[in-house]
Amino acid sequence: MQSVEELTADLELRRRQLDELTAEVALNDDKMRRSQQRELRLLQATDLGSLLEEMIGGLRESYRLKYVSVVLCDPDHDIRHLLLASGTPAESFPRLVMVESLTGLAPQYVALCRPWLGDYATCDHQLIFPDTSGIATVAMIPLIFRGNLIGSINLGSDDAQRFTREHASDFLAHLGIIGSFCIENGLNRARLLRSGFTDVLTGWHNRRYLQVRLKEELARACRDGSNLVCLMLDIDHFKQVNDTWGHAAGDAVLQELAQRVEAQVRASDVAARYGGEEFVVLLPNTDDEAGARLAERIRAAVSATPIELPGGESVRITASIGIAGIAPDKDETDLKTIGDSLIARADVALYSAKTAGRNKVVAGAGYAG
Ligand code: GH3
Ligand code: MG
Ligand code: MG
Repeated sequence: MQSVEELTADLELRRRQLDELTAEVALNDDKMRRSQQRELRLLQATDLGSLLEEMIGGLRESYRLKYVSVVLCDPDHDIRHLLLASGTPAESFPRLVMVESLTGLAPQYVALCRPWLGDYATCDHQLIFPDTSGIATVAMIPLIFRGNLIGSINLGSDDAQRFTREHASDFLAHLGIIGSFCIENGLNRARLLRSGFTDVLTGWHNRRYLQVRLKEELARACRDGSNLVCLMLDIDHFKQVNDTWGHAAGDAVLQELAQRVEAQVRASDVAARYGGEEFVVLLPNTDDEAGARLAERIRAAVSATPIELPGGESVRITASIGIAGIAPDKDETDLKTIGDSLIARADVALYSAKTAGRNKVVAGAGYAG
């Protein structure tokens, strides 16, 4: 028979145990809630760029970690190109590590099918945590794409107890599944978007893409205080090519023209097929004079040599070009209106080039070139 003292002590002990258990459940509840919030933010990212931002910066903040990096294996440079096309190049994420192969990057990649937790070792982990020091423990969460390991989310902590092999990693495994899903989804969406922005005949971007980029380039010109030049080009008497040689010959001319123009522009310029036989080239950070010189070079390149047609004949074509430029105010907010007016001014100048006899470059009113 227990004494009253023993019973009281026992009761006290149980009460403490209950308190501890309640605290643990509450902690897990809190952990679960925070974990769900993190995953929700990944799922809500609208494009690949904001997904990576959420994965790197968002997780780092939410886990209060020293360092978070994302490794992506991209042997065909496909992800790079998708990121570039969506206006967020891989280089804009300093903690995104893009590699052509995971081999040799960190030994854990040999068999990373669940999160790996353990001590940081310079020789093993310095490549997945570039340009940093003071990491004590690491969690590498695999990213799986169509059944293949394509990289990992890497959490680095300066706390030696934060990620140890004894830690349960169910939350992290779940985060990995959601992260993988989001990457796959983001890539698919970026591909879809890219295909909707491409002109099938010339491989150039289309008018929809131009409209998106025009706004971005205007925003950049506002920020940098730089000048943006817009060239609008239209093939002269193109209808005659179709009427004389057929539609396939017309298509071949459009393709060749696109190549001739492309050979003259920089990679940073934005070239788009605007309509049937109309093309627009945006020249960011270009003054009016340089824009006019380039327009003249393009005009000359288009007419320089006859274009060979699929039937063996050849035809010499010319094009007319209208130019307009803009150096938007730093505090300009109505980018849509100034973008529309830039295109409209280039179009009016193009019309003047046509009425002035074609095969000409004409600058719009106020153009300083
Ligand atoms: P101008 O010098 O005034 O520009 O005369 P044009 O004949 O070039 O202009 P117009 O606008 O009268 O004719 C444009 C032609 O372009 C009509 C259309 O059939 C043709 N066209 C538009 N898109 C395509 C295409 O994808 N392939 C081919 N082959 N022809 C196209
Ligand atoms: Mg036309
Ligand atoms: Mg034409």
